[in-house]
Amino acid sequence: MYLLTDVELYAPDYQGVKDVLIAGSQVVAISDHINREFTGVPVQIINGQGKVLAPGLVDSLVHIIGGGGEGGFTTRTPEMHLSDAVIAGVTTLVGVLGTDSVTRTLTNLLAKANALTEDGLTVYCHTGSYQIPARTLFGDIDQDIILIDKFIGVGEVAISDHRSSQPSQQELARLTAQARVGGMLSGKAGIVSVHVGDSDTCLQPLLDVVSASDIPIKQFYPTHINRTQTLLDAGKEFAQLGGYLDLTASTTPEILAAGEVKCSDALKQLLDAGISVDQITFSSDGFASLPDFDEQGNLRGLKVGTLTSLLDEVRDAVQQNGVALEDALKVVTQSPADILKLTGKGRVQEGLDADLILLDAATLELETVFAKGQLMMVDGVVLKKGLFERQGEGQ
Ligand code: ZN
Repeated sequence: MYLLTDVELYAPDYQGVKDVLIAGSQVVAISDHINREFTGVPVQIINGQGKVLAPGLVDSLVHIIGGGGEGGFTTRTPEMHLSDAVIAGVTTLVGVLGTDSVTRTLTNLLAKANALTEDGLTVYCHTGSYQIPARTLFGDIDQDIILIDKFIGVGEVAISDHRSSQPSQQELARLTAQARVGGMLSGKAGIVSVHVGDSDTCLQPLLDVVSASDIPIKQFYPTHINRTQTLLDAGKEFAQLGGYLDLTASTTPEILAAGEVKCSDALKQLLDAGISVDQITFSSDGFASLPDFDEQGNLRGLKVGTLTSLLDEVRDAVQQNGVALEDALKVVTQSPADILKLTGKGRVQEGLDADLILLDAATLELETVFAKGQLMMVDGVVLKKGLFERQGEGQ
């Protein structure tokens, strides 16, 4: 058991200064004052004065087995390690394939998700990839979502991108209907995660499906909406019709110089346009490849997306854009948990999972991480690493 005392609780709504008691994997009590004297049970007390307590982050898009490969085999990005999530305060994540569903497979994706789950994180996956018809395990999207616990949707399915399979409106509608019904029958989101590229059609393929079918706009969860100002403007209209928007946090100075809207700036724009924070999320796109150009514009190499980009953008949204901390935290906790129907996630509440982070209240730097009640990092020191990370360090 752990008792966190005198924390500034953002649940993510601000609750004031509280004491929070963790027993096993859950938060069991939140109160103005919890008695420090315990008899018969070992309780570790963590002084939370001057610290913000928030939910562990929910990252809705991570290439956990790597991604990329669009520049040949040497450009395939590596797998993530456990500590890549821990140092980012991410306690729940959704693993996806991407462009490559030939050398990357759903079986490999599920095995990696199981490994990260054994190590203490909460991990879900999407079936399918960029391609339509989608590659699946059982042959159909609905069977995959209904029969495999970890599958909660399909994606990221690519549209408006030269790398997509250029799906017809009917193909996109059929895929979405399968995900929707699969989700309904299994009590899951059945969400369609949509990779939106940089072509002029923007979000129009999704709007065409919505207007020509009975599929609600909320079945789609389009990502990379801050890729260009044009796409972000299209996103505002999409959200005004009730749709969700996901912004990508990982970036490079070169990508921003080429026209991407910084994630924190994009959040500010959307909130100023009157879009509800419930419809907006950040994801890291972790372990996707990011091109790295030199000053002359030559490809120097590839970097990979990082999960730490999420908190960096939350911090920038608050410190540079003047976004309320509650709202900046919601887009990486409550909003993605609700959109993905992950009950027990994205909030600090009695009876829910003890997925918690402690931030320095002044700097918003990450200090301490709990995942399902397990202490993963304390005062900036990672306590739990994956097996081969430990071996790499000679431990
Ligand atoms: Zn993508």
